Amino acid sequence: MRLSKLLDKIKEYNHQTNLDLIRKAYKFSRELHKDKKRASGEPYIQHPLNVAYILAEHKLDDDSIIAALLHDLVEDTSISLDEIKKEFGEEIASLVDGLTKLTQIKYETKRNVEYIRKMLVSSTKDVRIILIKLADKLHNMRTVKYLEENKIKRVCRETLYVYAPLAHKLGMASIKDELEDLAFKHLHPTMYQKFKEKFGRRKMSRENEIKKIISIIDKRLKEQGINALILGRAKHFYSVYKKMIEKNRSFEEIYDLIGLRIITDTVKECYEALGIIHNLWTPIPGEFDDYIAMPKPNMYQSLHTAVVAFNQSVEFQIRTYEMDKLAEEGIAIHWSYKGVKEDRQFDKRLNLLKQILSLQSESKNVKEFMEFLKDVFEDEIYIFTPKGDIINLPKGSCPIDFAYAIHSSVGDRCNGAIVNGRIVPLRHQLKSGDMVNILTSKNPSPKRDWLKIVNTAKARNRIKQFISSHEEIPLPKLDNKQKPILTKQRSTLVNVNKKPIYNYRLAKDCNPTPRQKIIAQLSKNRYTIHKQSCSNIERRKSIGASWADISFPLVIKIISKDRVGLLADILNTIAATGTNVNLTRSRKMSNNYVGIELGVTPENLDHIRDLLSKIKNIKSVGKISIDKK
Ligand code: MN
Repeated sequence: MRLSKLLDKIKEYNHQTNLDLIRKAYKFSRELHKDKKRASGEPYIQHPLNVAYILAEHKLDDDSIIAALLHDLVEDTSISLDEIKKEFGEEIASLVDGLTKLTQIKYETKRNVEYIRKMLVSSTKDVRIILIKLADKLHNMRTVKYLEENKIKRVCRETLYVYAPLAHKLGMASIKDELEDLAFKHLHPTMYQKFKEKFGRRKMSRENEIKKIISIIDKRLKEQGINALILGRAKHFYSVYKKMIEKNRSFEEIYDLIGLRIITDTVKECYEALGIIHNLWTPIPGEFDDYIAMPKPNMYQSLHTAVVAFNQSVEFQIRTYEMDKLAEEGIAIHWSYKGVKEDRQFDKRLNLLKQILSLQSESKNVKEFMEFLKDVFEDEIYIFTPKGDIINLPKGSCPIDFAYAIHSSVGDRCNGAIVNGRIVPLRHQLKSGDMVNILTSKNPSPKRDWLKIVNTAKARNRIKQFISSHEEIPLPKLDNKQKPILTKQRSTLVNVNKKPIYNYRLAKDCNPTPRQKIIAQLSKNRYTIHKQSCSNIERRKSIGASWADISFPLVIKIISKDRVGLLADILNTIAATGTNVNLTRSRKMSNNYVGIELGVTPENLDHIRDLLSKIKNIKSVGKISIDKK
């Protein structure tokens, strides 16, 4: 690459650039590096020049670009930091100093979290140091093939475990994706090659389908007066690979998911576009996420949904131009050069970022930046799978959380864990850097007790879901002294002395069944139910009993996300079971939730069970409980 290419790139976005100073830095660096060559055989200056160019592509300021040109000098040549300060000023010298210190931190595979932390702490003075470091890494990865075989693997792992997650944390998707694909290419060369061939082969047929879907949406958006850009989303290889492993799917299953991105001018149009898509095709339940209302920790904002169109799933990301830029460039926007022209949108974006990061514009406030880092890193731990993949979990997580993070079926079947080679109890608290191997049983068996030890929402939801569909259904509290829990096997209630009783057992010797005449005996505070004709009972101690039909009125309480047609769906579902609804109440709750109460008189327990499970299956219904009327 020639210097003029870099200068031209900078001129595209920065009309006040000090080209003379950049030229000076280039010559300064070229002179000092002149005896050294890269592993590729090129003159060494090509490396800093390319790093500076990557930063120019991200529209960074002059200081960052000059620091990039000088970044290896103190480490590799005889020049001192003081001399750099004298030639280029304090600001640039402190960037170079930060970069030099970063290279001195030793990276060890097992301790990568410590490494990231140290790296960040030593660069708290200025996040531009990390941005330059990432550009440095990116160019090194682009030329990694010239290194020796075993060094390549080490560098690629380091990239995958440290730098790609770091780029992700800072919201820089474009750098993250490229780093991951380069590492993947060298760590799994055969698979990479296979992917490449498959991508090529499937590309043609996919393109027509994608075009068809795009043109339908485009027409509808235009009818609504929405000006939007619709893009087919290129999936990068590593993300396909990761999903194949996470979801245990084939290449085709992952790759064949069509991903589209819709970019609009305003937030309002994002939601309008979402409505149009949900109107055109059936949304897939559970796939909708609103990261506009609730941005991800790395500032990412977008609406996510998936629908079934032409018999296949299509994933959508819907966001504004600003959000799109933020998603690709992340934190880099914060430091990118502001053009001469007043740009209101840009100012707004910048302010938003400053708010999110709680940083001063000059990033001089170390304490606030440390707070930001704390948010980003300290609440998380990094756990290794036996294959060396990294799973991110919140602090305080246990092996069950880890198992569910790998896959819900691994979580369901988890029955033991080995941490760093030692068997530990499932409640064991994991630490960053732990390597965890989950032992599984053949059949799923999540326990209610797990709810007390898990720390992630994913694990908790999944366990609850499993328990509610497999274990027991709480019944309304009728008798204050008894616990109103019935197990699944027991489908009928018993009245003793004309009061419904839950805490009873059926005598094994005569095994009474519903509709047979029965009698109860009290032993150890518990009723045992015998047939009236049973010969083993002591008549003196027996108490009158009968099977209860629980045909007493109940109230079913439902909490659901509000939507058009919700009540109709619920009433239709109940009507389809032949049940009369004698009371309906609904009230709006916060966050677009609604609470609904329905009065019903079920015929028996199975009837309630049936009702509850059918209501649970209705779209957007969240919590259900039943109560005495
Ligand atoms: Mn370098």
